[in-house]
Amino acid sequence: MTTKNAARILSSIITIVALCNSSVLPQARPQITSGKRYNRIVIRSATVIDGNGTPASGPKDIVIVGDKIAEIVSLDPVAIKSGEAKRPAAGDVEIDATGKYVLPGLINIHAHTQDERGGVAMPVEYCMKMWLACGITTVRDVLSTKKTLEWRERSAKNELASPRIFAYGVFPGAATPDEARSKVRELKQAGFDGIKLFAVDRDIMEALEDEAHKLGMPIAHHVGVAETNAWDDIRFGTRSIEHWYGIPDAAIESGRQNFPADYNYNNETDRFRYAGRLWREANWDRLMKVLDAMIEAHVAWNPTLDIYEASRDLQRAQTNPAFAEYLHPVLEDYFRPNPANHGSYFIGWTSTDEAFWKENYRIWMRALVEFEKRGGLIGAGDDAGFIYQMYGFGLLRELELHQEAGFQPLKIIQHVTGNNAKILGQEDSLGRIRVGYKADIIVVNGNPLENLKVFYPTGIEEIRDGKVVKTGGIEWTLKDGIPFHTPTIAAEIRAMVAAARKR
Ligand SMILES: [Zn+2]
Repeated sequence: MTTKNAARILSSIITIVALCNSSVLPQARPQITSGKRYNRIVIRSATVIDGNGTPASGPKDIVIVGDKIAEIVSLDPVAIKSGEAKRPAAGDVEIDATGKYVLPGLINIHAHTQDERGGVAMPVEYCMKMWLACGITTVRDVLSTKKTLEWRERSAKNELASPRIFAYGVFPGAATPDEARSKVRELKQAGFDGIKLFAVDRDIMEALEDEAHKLGMPIAHHVGVAETNAWDDIRFGTRSIEHWYGIPDAAIESGRQNFPADYNYNNETDRFRYAGRLWREANWDRLMKVLDAMIEAHVAWNPTLDIYEASRDLQRAQTNPAFAEYLHPVLEDYFRPNPANHGSYFIGWTSTDEAFWKENYRIWMRALVEFEKRGGLIGAGDDAGFIYQMYGFGLLRELELHQEAGFQPLKIIQHVTGNNAKILGQEDSLGRIRVGYKADIIVVNGNPLENLKVFYPTGIEEIRDGKVVKTGGIEWTLKDGIPFHTPTIAAEIRAMVAAARKR
């Protein structure tokens, strides 16, 4: 055992013992007004992890003018010491990023902006602030409504503290291919940026995809167990497959999973139970053909591993310690097993179900790694607001699951920044720390390449001078060049949750 390891193990033991009286490091009082736009901001001495998979490098000074990154200056440590370093002129305000990591803002490619659960109202500010507190500067909302379009505009004008929003409207279904085309045109006219597609018949899918391509609307497909599967996404040009259904289905030799005779697709317990026995039925060689064809056709894969985690370990999902301060009571109610709520299907969930789901994950994760190895584009989204996943926290958990799958942290950061920007068709303006790009930037207290948990608003614990200190977390989330002081936002969320519980 190395000294470092020994020290770590010792420190984690002390952490557990001392958790109850851990002290919190005083946060430096921000000179900057959170949520206010400045003309010129300089981030000093940052260690930068870009969104293209390249290694961390620094120190660098980053100059933001308005909503864009205007200049990035690599600093020579020797020149800094001798005072001869050429550094950018002062900003209206400055962020000292010494010892901190600076990354592109995280992008949540499978988000649901929610202001109610199960018909009970919940302030949309809760959802928005949770995202900002978790470093998310862009979301692709894949169940968008008219309201989402309003939030998108208010966010763009900085009237609502929120990530930037790409609103994908749901394809409402159609009886004929002609009707499918006109529904797509209606979605375009209503102002949606793209289309979310669920289970669909082949002739309808062909028509709607063709029409969407003409109008420049990308399609995110939550494939159902339907007539169509991944082969159709490959044929018709879907931008991204959401979750994973439709991929193993396309590799089953008989063409259909072996469901029990009394299986009913509309019964959610049935659906989620037998989904847990799907990957094992895929023929691996055929699966590789499906993956290669997806890559060839530029169909990306956004797995949302986090949203199924309760299926393989229900107790873990139900007892997340972060619920204590961050789970809004309306969302908490919605999570309780209840056949009336989508995704709240855990009634009579068995150890056998969990064992099947664990195997399901093992095959799924192998397939994901293989997909990227062969040249596939993997994104990251959380689908939170369902199945015990909180907004933003779900995306951070997703990153940890990418690590469990076998991806290294530099690639994982690329999944959630540069790759997601590509899936959005925004790779020329988002997902990178690069001159000319949007100033969507996070400043992190700690090194996410060592520990992805540093991203969580709940932070991490460390031993310093024999004392347990709470550290980690994101210090600043800049969206469109607007700096949000993340610990302040997190405190606002905790207050909002506490007040809602008193009612
Ligand atoms: Zn979803």
